[in-house]
Amino acid sequence: MFDITTRDIKYLQGVGPQRATMLNKELNIFSLRDLLYYFPYKYVDRSRLYYIHEIDGNMPYIQLKGQILSFETMGEGRQRRLVAHFSDGTGVIDLVWFQGIKYLMGKYKAHEEYIVFGKPTVFNGRINVAHPDIDPAKDLSLSGMGLQPYYNTTEKMKRSGLNSHAFGKLVANAFALLQGAIPETLSRKIVENHHLVSLDEALRNIHFPQNPDKLRKAQYRLKFEELFYIQLNILRYAKDRQRKFRGLYFERVGEIFNTFYSQNLPFQLTGAQKRVIKEIRKDMGSGRQMNRLLQGDVGSGKTLVALMSMLIALDNGYQACMMAPTEILAAQHYETVKQLLFGMDVRVELLMGSVKGKKRDEILKGLLTGEVQILIGTHAVLENTVNFSSLGMVVIDEQHRFGVAQRAKLWAKNTNPPHVLVMTATPIPRTLAMTLYGDLDVSVIDELPPGRKPIQTIHQFDNRRTSLYAGIRKQIGEGRQIYIVYPLIKESEKMDIKNLEEGYEQVCAEFPECNVCKVHGQMKPAEKDAEMQRFVNGEAQIMVATTVVEVGVNVPNASVMVIENAERFGLSQLHQLRGRVGRGADQSYCILVTSYKLAEETRKRLEIMVQTCDGFEIAEADLKLRGPGDLEGTQQSGVAFDLKIADIARDGQLLQYVREVASNILEKDPMCVLPENEVLWKQLQALRKTNVNWAAIS
Ligand code: ADP
Ligand code: MG
Repeated sequence: MFDITTRDIKYLQGVGPQRATMLNKELNIFSLRDLLYYFPYKYVDRSRLYYIHEIDGNMPYIQLKGQILSFETMGEGRQRRLVAHFSDGTGVIDLVWFQGIKYLMGKYKAHEEYIVFGKPTVFNGRINVAHPDIDPAKDLSLSGMGLQPYYNTTEKMKRSGLNSHAFGKLVANAFALLQGAIPETLSRKIVENHHLVSLDEALRNIHFPQNPDKLRKAQYRLKFEELFYIQLNILRYAKDRQRKFRGLYFERVGEIFNTFYSQNLPFQLTGAQKRVIKEIRKDMGSGRQMNRLLQGDVGSGKTLVALMSMLIALDNGYQACMMAPTEILAAQHYETVKQLLFGMDVRVELLMGSVKGKKRDEILKGLLTGEVQILIGTHAVLENTVNFSSLGMVVIDEQHRFGVAQRAKLWAKNTNPPHVLVMTATPIPRTLAMTLYGDLDVSVIDELPPGRKPIQTIHQFDNRRTSLYAGIRKQIGEGRQIYIVYPLIKESEKMDIKNLEEGYEQVCAEFPECNVCKVHGQMKPAEKDAEMQRFVNGEAQIMVATTVVEVGVNVPNASVMVIENAERFGLSQLHQLRGRVGRGADQSYCILVTSYKLAEETRKRLEIMVQTCDGFEIAEADLKLRGPGDLEGTQQSGVAFDLKIADIARDGQLLQYVREVASNILEKDPMCVLPENEVLWKQLQALRKTNVNWAAIS
């Protein structure tokens, strides 16, 4: 059957070739279907009338009923405008037009009843409404108007007359063209079981709601569908993969693990660490390939979990590999692991770009023979020359710096893909993780090792430097080390360096008795590492840096994190930076330095930082303040998601719910053959074709 909604948009009444090109380019609308799935971003209730005395400059669109008292033209040239003084008996406002003055003066008459619709603003102390919609009161039956849709259109579109109103007309034309109902895209069973309205009813009401209740039902149905297919897609990929690849079966926890546990482990595992290790062991023994995201706040002890998982692989005769985003981090992991395994007969090697010549050859050879059991490194481990005898377990630290493609590269280093553990300190809210990483199972370390003192966070204005420096001096006097971080302004790297250099000079002048080191992104890696090293080994007391210290560096003796221009940082970045301190037993401090004048949203961000150290609370707050598209880390992950109606920040519960629904369907119909589900697989196939990002998710 020919589906009319696939018809090219240019044949729709009111469109034509030029507008079609505009719709293609500006909004990605090519077919009638695309048009129908371009939803209004808001609705305005046109059944309600306001009184002028109720109005202030902060209201959205409002509607008034009254008379024009008089007209007046004002201003010269481009400023020339027509002003109509309009009253409803409770006050007077100005209606203002900058175009079509002559025409308007002929059209509207003083002392007749009109309904005026528009957005009020305050100008020169008077309330006015620019370019309002005006209708004679007798022509308009308000009760029949109800909720009016508003569509986002671009500047370009508006300039050629394709504004929200005109767009709405196109949608109405499209509906007029459809004969019969729009075909259903969910199975009958789902629609019935979950009390959804039909797709046809949903689409009609999302554009032209008959009443608020129908609008709500339409929104629910469309959100349900959108999230459902995302989850169905992800879960099906996961199932397919499980069928294709058998996971390595690690049944044993053996000698290496047990020796480590009973003899080398320097402290008690936290409850959370124990739980996560159990989850990992279960995965590895299940016969399916593990793909697990391990989230844990900075300092929660992820490294130990990673190491113990790697030991399980070793116990089962396999090698393990751990990858970190920078040389500093890789080297730090290497040192940590060597120390933890001290006295045990396990060969660990470090491979990075700077490891060359004979040393490198030796490592590569050891990997092939299996003598090197644990390899720690940077991107260098991905190179084609790096081959293992039997790679069974891969740990990726600080996930958001590595893309999906790199993950896949590691997989390919063994015939049967190794188990994968991805660790991140960016606390991604669960709902978002599910959408972003899809088929990754998620483990959370939600408990810090005992004895940690919560970091005290203080917000300070930058005119109070004297007291700030006094505080720093006191800490240095007690033998502690200090970070001072400057923001990175992407558009202007020169500016950054200037900020940083000035800051560096100021600090050197203020603390002549101290060694100060300096680190920024424009330095050569070797130079940067050397400076970093001076801080790590305690030679320098103060480190002045841009955000390069954000990830992973561990200097337990550092107790103060000063963040300059803190207003320029996002919440999750502030939290990451703060996590660089508070790693030892001493009381640590984070000082957020800002100018005096702050935007409302910035003030909220800083307040949250002062109030809580809980990464998940901060991530949730971040998501609410900024929306998911902006969340740090999502950009780099390579998974763009283009949600038309659902909102990850607000629809988390629904997301979880539809995941269950999708999972149940796959459970009952793993081969996707049940007739009752036919429509689902068809729709999924269609979506995979049109939505390029979907294929990349797994
Ligand atoms: P992150 O999760 O940020 O990678 P790390 O693994 O670097 O955290 O651990 C932070 C610090 O906490 C390290 O110094 C580590 O030795 C210590 N640590 C980890 N687990 C425990 C524990 N169970 N008890 C006490 N200290 C721990
Ligand atoms: Mg770490």
